[in-house]
Amino acid sequence: MGKATKTTKTNVLIIGGGPAGYPCAIRAAQLGLDVILVDKGGLGGTCLNRGCIPSKAVIHAASRFEEIAAHAETPAMGISAGKPKLDMKALTAWKDNLVTKLTGGVGGLLKAAGANVLDGWAEFIDAKTCTVTLADGETMTIEAQNVVLATGSVEVELPFLPFDDPRIISSTGALALEKLPKTMAVVGAGYIGLELGIAFAKLGTKVSFVEALDRILPLYDKAMTRPITRWLKTHNVDVHLSSKAKALTKSGLSYEDKDGKEAEIAAEKVLVAVGRKPVTQGWGLENMAIDMSGPFVKVDDQCATSMRGVYAIGDLVGEPMLAHKGTAQGEMVAEILAGHRRRFDPVSIPAVCFTEPEIVGVGLTPDEAKAAGETVITGKFPFAALGKALAMQGGADGGFVRVTARQSDHLVLGIHAVGAHVAELSGEFALALEMGARLEDIAGTIHVHPTLGEGFAESALAALGQPLHIAQ
Ligand code: FAD
Ligand code: NAD
Repeated sequence: MGKATKTTKTNVLIIGGGPAGYPCAIRAAQLGLDVILVDKGGLGGTCLNRGCIPSKAVIHAASRFEEIAAHAETPAMGISAGKPKLDMKALTAWKDNLVTKLTGGVGGLLKAAGANVLDGWAEFIDAKTCTVTLADGETMTIEAQNVVLATGSVEVELPFLPFDDPRIISSTGALALEKLPKTMAVVGAGYIGLELGIAFAKLGTKVSFVEALDRILPLYDKAMTRPITRWLKTHNVDVHLSSKAKALTKSGLSYEDKDGKEAEIAAEKVLVAVGRKPVTQGWGLENMAIDMSGPFVKVDDQCATSMRGVYAIGDLVGEPMLAHKGTAQGEMVAEILAGHRRRFDPVSIPAVCFTEPEIVGVGLTPDEAKAAGETVITGKFPFAALGKALAMQGGADGGFVRVTARQSDHLVLGIHAVGAHVAELSGEFALALEMGARLEDIAGTIHVHPTLGEGFAESALAALGQPLHIAQ
């Protein structure tokens, strides 16, 4: 590190410009605080540059490609089409354009709010002092009254499948491909593996999964993942469960199957998606005397660390490692720093997996509610019985909405859905939980016809024993 040339003081110093750090900076500046945000790697962090948005762009493009290919093969709805052609380089360039537009937008928002942004790498000397190495090589020292750590996470690397081998890729590599691989082995059938694996399968890659556990997407119950398993089966995607990836071979990936036998998958590329780990090294965390909780920075319900005046948010503080959780924590910390009384105490942190079909989970599943000592009733409504789902060619995938409520007072404890386009229902689900809705509130809310939201009202009616559009 070069010699520090300049010392600056600030009220709030935020390290990391991802979806946790940048909203914190915007809100703190809006509230009149003097803010410096230091980020190296691009405003928007993992989420905008190599995560949520680029992956959803590729997923959208892949679905469009698959739809056109399906019409070319078998005309449907009176629509026939020629066989689509894929220019992977152009797809990636389109995605990169979108990313540039959005990251530029974040820069504009920070500027408009009055936050100072430094493009550089921060390294702490002690809990309130850090040296920033700027993009031009210059260094500066910042002394802060309050520090917010939002350094995010990176992909976990398997030692026997190192990312420096060009055939082995992480999600970042998968989202930067300029040539569609003919074959791909995906290690890990979690969020990233399934979202990207399904997208590549739609684009025409022969995809095979190797998953260590005996099921895909272990966070969701089997009823929820069944429609995805069905899609994988009907689209010629191989899923090897209870299997361990071993090594790269000449033609692909070797693995140990569920019976302990050695097997091999043909793979031009191997996508390793076995989780993410917090960024806790390379920036002087060890000089800050902060308590840890396993690999994560330990925080309380105000995201305060064990060091007075130092806060931590986002992926750095643990599961769930989701953009919207980090954003909520960032906004809260900014308000605490401005003197507001806030606590991080959401009823639920909603989650969506953008698979085919999509999955939404908000609150407790029936099993989780029972394990928490609740006596529950549930209501399930299949999209196969919903006009709008059928009009959008959904419903045949086995999708449904399921509501879980406390039997005694009908308080909604959890809402889960699987089906085409259900991600867009997650806001209504989360709102219902946060507002303490009861089944009667959901059933009594007039839902627009025809929309997928009607399925939510019908699931509440089903839980109450009086559904209109399914026989019970
Ligand atoms: P990050 O976004 O990782 O940002 C941290 C930033 O800090 C980075 O820019 C980093 O370079 C910078 N930084 C770190 N240390 C320093 C330092 N010392 N000095 C300067 N800068 C530093 N989540 C969802 O909710 N929905 C999704 O659909 C979704 N899809 C995803 C798809 C993929 C492929 C991946 C990889 C992730 C996805 N995620 C999704 C997860 C989401 O991206 C993360 O939860 C989120 O980005 C975490 O935000 P953060 O601000 O905590 O950290
Ligand atoms: P994950 O934890 O979702 O899934 C990892 C999978 O890999 C698990 O099923 C695990 O059993 C398996 N695994 C672990 N080690 C293995 C091994 N050696 N061999 C075979 N399988 C192995 O992790 P991810 O998919 O890498 O995603 C990381 C995080 O990013 C997620 O937890 C989530 O927080 C975030 N993310 C969210 C979204 C979204 O919200 N839609 C999308 C992508 C990523």
